[in-house]
Amino acid sequence: MKKGNYNLIIAIDGYSSCGKSTFAKEIARILHYTYIDSGAMYRAVTLFCLRNRIIENDVINITKLRKSLKDIKIEFKYNSNSKQFETYLDDENIEEKIRSVKVSEFVSQISKISEIRSKMVKAQRILGNKKRIVMDGRDIGTVVFPNADLKIFMIAKPAIRAERRYKELLQKGMKVSYEEIEKNIIQRDHIDSTRNISPLKKAPDAITLDNSDMTVEEQMSWIMGIIQNLKKNES
Ligand code: C5P
Repeated sequence: MKKGNYNLIIAIDGYSSCGKSTFAKEIARILHYTYIDSGAMYRAVTLFCLRNRIIENDVINITKLRKSLKDIKIEFKYNSNSKQFETYLDDENIEEKIRSVKVSEFVSQISKISEIRSKMVKAQRILGNKKRIVMDGRDIGTVVFPNADLKIFMIAKPAIRAERRYKELLQKGMKVSYEEIEKNIIQRDHIDSTRNISPLKKAPDAITLDNSDMTVEEQMSWIMGIIQNLKKNES
């Protein structure tokens, strides 16, 4: 696909470890779009809380968090080697640190807090100002960009998701057990889909993609067909 084609906002939502980021990154690469991982922002806030003792003895001090909110500086900076945007907290590259088991353990509790969500959604909308963006998360098609040009809701069988996550973390050299990964995915899905504010749900105009038995190549040919059709209908 030629650079310069289509100015779209593509919203990708779905359950934990459905392969959203692999899918979204690949679309962005082919279309020459920017990929933004909105989950990384919630993970960055969680890391900030762990470092600043806002989470202590496994308890979140919400009052302290509200007071500190203005001090949390999250940015995405482009890495020309990896050709991707990476997450920064106060000018430190935290791309790896936010994937830890500890951050995963608390991120869904942090993401339930309304002030946090407002701050993140505001920042995400600014990133989408110029369009040509693929953003993945839990509320991108429902809340962040309700008028997105294309919305995908990803699902996959729980056992397949746990297996994928487990392998991914092992590859990164992390010491994890399959059981803790599976437990964390189930827990996060439950918290994310039952919270009061912006729960994870399919937008009425989103297209469901069940990638349980699909390769990345198959997913790409499916989505590119949809994008080509969008263009045809536009002209
Ligand atoms: O996408 P990822 O699994 O890294 O997201 C981590 C967590 O961040 C999710 O489990 C969810 O609690 C939260 N999140 C969210 N809204 C988004 C993206 C992520 O609440 N748009």
